[in-house]
Amino acid sequence: MKTVNDFSFEGKRALIRVDFNVPLNDTFEVTDNTRIEAAKPTIIKVLEDGGSCVLMSHLGRPSSREDRFSLRHLVAEIENIIGVEVMFISDCIGDEALLATQQIQPGEIILLENLRYYKEETKGDKNFAEKLSVHGDIYINDAFGTAHRAHASTAIIADFFPDRKCYGILLASEIENINKVLYQSKKPVTAIVGGAKVSSKIGVILNILDKIDHLIIGGGMAFTFIKAQGGMTGGSLVEEDKMNLALEILESAKNKGVTVHLPVDAIIADAFSGSANTTISSIDSIPDGWMGLDVGPESNDLFTDVIYKSKTILWNGPLGVFEMNPFALGTITLGNAIVESTKNGAFSLVGGGDSVAAVKKFNLTDKVSYVSTGGGAMLEMLEGKTLPGIKAIED
Ligand code: AMP
Repeated sequence: MKTVNDFSFEGKRALIRVDFNVPLNDTFEVTDNTRIEAAKPTIIKVLEDGGSCVLMSHLGRPSSREDRFSLRHLVAEIENIIGVEVMFISDCIGDEALLATQQIQPGEIILLENLRYYKEETKGDKNFAEKLSVHGDIYINDAFGTAHRAHASTAIIADFFPDRKCYGILLASEIENINKVLYQSKKPVTAIVGGAKVSSKIGVILNILDKIDHLIIGGGMAFTFIKAQGGMTGGSLVEEDKMNLALEILESAKNKGVTVHLPVDAIIADAFSGSANTTISSIDSIPDGWMGLDVGPESNDLFTDVIYKSKTILWNGPLGVFEMNPFALGTITLGNAIVESTKNGAFSLVGGGDSVAAVKKFNLTDKVSYVSTGGGAMLEMLEGKTLPGIKAIED
């Protein structure tokens, strides 16, 4: 695996694909800078070597040159985090950008405008990739969040840097940590899959069944499994068209010797609201007019027990609607159990947008082994797919 540590950047311009797709508030301030922080080690490595950085990223999904998606809103935050002045160029290709990146000096940082102002970016257009490629001497991909896309700046561009391309520090550590779960895991291995829908997690579940000993299923998706087995789920979230699939997963898990742990009770509510009436119900007898929005106390005990016995833990998706206080306890309890187990030597990997948000909300980020910055990218790696952004560097 070729990383930035295999190069000296002295006198070189590093063209770095970062993932600065960060959330902004109404006044265009960055509300979560995790992704900028995550790119810092690579940027610092280049600068300390005596090189310069040309940063390129997308932000949101602009349909045209909409100012709310301009990367200029990020300049102050990047300067704060990196501690170096950032020169912003209001285009990512063209004369102005070219002149600036030709004249860049060691120690300097240029931030190019949103790549997705050009539809060629997501189309993986080769000409566009070539126009981007002139901005650097060495190409670094450090954008794990978009590594599962074959876009111009994440994959196609690498062709223009034979022998002069590598993984950034973030991308390399993402690969290393996910591979730890996939190929070097200590047993027993437990995967916890939660969140809203079975449909978005099915690929991962099927791929990891070969590698795990326990599968904990929580969140909204658990109800599709409960109903498929004949349970009464009231108004809980159920994907009727995925019930057969749920049964197939259970069957497949059984055949592979994986123990599946579904919730046995739930916190139910009479409305999808933080101020709804709530009570505890057994998982398979939820009355009409009520919906399960968190796992219940018995399930918490059961899951905690499994987590304490695990040596490798993979967590994707919250166990309940953790954004609302009355339905957060399942996710908090699980997070705390994972932290305890990690303290006792287990390796824990947390990933997928909402579990990361949960881990952050409950201040557990530094207490698990690794928090992945990529949602879709992590899921696709766990599904066993080769990501285009990773492959492009290997080729
Ligand atoms: P996902 O993006 O699929 O991981 O889903 C995360 C979302 O699932 C979070 O916003 C949670 O609020 C939501 N969620 C978790 N448990 C439930 C539930 N029992 N019913 C409805 N939504 C849920």
